[in-house]
Amino acid sequence: MPLDQTVVFRKATSFPSVLRQNSAHQSMYGRTTRTYRRKVKKWREHFNDLVIDILKQTNTRNYPVMFRPLAQYFDGFNIHYVKLNTLPDGILSSLHKKDEEAEGWHLVDGKDIYIIYNSETSEKRQRFTIAHEWGHICQQFDEEFKADMESIASDEERNAIIESVANHFAGCYLAPDPFIARELTIYKTHGGFMPLEMEMANSFNVSFQCMEIRYTNYQRQRVQQ
Ligand SMILES: [Zn+2]
Repeated sequence: MPLDQTVVFRKATSFPSVLRQNSAHQSMYGRTTRTYRRKVKKWREHFNDLVIDILKQTNTRNYPVMFRPLAQYFDGFNIHYVKLNTLPDGILSSLHKKDEEAEGWHLVDGKDIYIIYNSETSEKRQRFTIAHEWGHICQQFDEEFKADMESIASDEERNAIIESVANHFAGCYLAPDPFIARELTIYKTHGGFMPLEMEMANSFNVSFQCMEIRYTNYQRQRVQQ
């Protein structure tokens, strides 16, 4: 399948990817509106529910969570993981022209799903980038989400919401609610050598920053329920 310049790639968050999850998007976007906050909250919850559903349907019980459950969920599609540095120069420069700092792109072409990622970063960061792109792919197959995004007049606001929700998807997928609960029980029962967030970051194979943000969101969610 040719990857040509007519293809629209969505950008992954740029460095430092996980830090953008909460704060940087807002500064990138400037001030946040009520619409932004309401929609981000709604769609974060929606895609967290989807993650739980995918894990249930694929009977995923172990972590660190790999990407096979997503491939199983997208049964019938061919999944291609493409390392950025294996692409021909022409494609590479056209990707970088769209966004110099992006570390991942995705493309759905019929029954083929392509995830292009920078493989010259840490394994944890690559996992986050790939999960973030999967977040966009799930968005792309969600008609209700797409319709809601299309109703937003401001490109800047729409993009900020889409990126924030994709980051949240990545965090929820790599460190899912039920597995955080399991980790908490283990930590309470047996304790650990390191602070809780660090132990969990290792268990889930995510960065410490990603885990910190994810755990804060997890606790906030619990308080609201
Ligand atoms: Zn993105």
